[in-house]
Amino acid sequence: MNDDPRRYSPRAVRAPVGADTMEIDWADGHVGVLPNEMLRAYCPCAACQGHSGEIKFLPGGNSVIDGIEEVGSYALQLTWGDGHASGIYSFRYLRRLCVCPMCAPHSPFATRASIPRAVT
Ligand SMILES: [Zn+2]
Ligand SMILES: [Zn+2]
Repeated sequence: MNDDPRRYSPRAVRAPVGADTMEIDWADGHVGVLPNEMLRAYCPCAACQGHSGEIKFLPGGNSVIDGIEEVGSYALQLTWGDGHASGIYSFRYLRRLCVCPMCAPHSPFATRASIPRAVT
């Protein structure tokens, strides 16, 4: 396992108005690719996911990113176009959600699978 802390340290987050994909420049040089639709469908909050041990792909939510705020230097809180803002996405979770061409072939998220809550 590569547990270099730079893997989980964002240098810049880009989510321009009108874009459908968020990008994160990680400190190890990786450029993260995170489609808005996927971020919303994998929202880790209890309102979306309940309290089960799994995070499921829940499509159909509003996927316009209205706001991004850093939470305690370990996570981002995303506000969606419908006002939903209870999802706290840890940097580790965001790194694992990456579906760039390098990550997608190895990512359960790319296949819209359910994944263990432990990774959030
Ligand atoms: Zn949610
Ligand atoms: Zn990637």
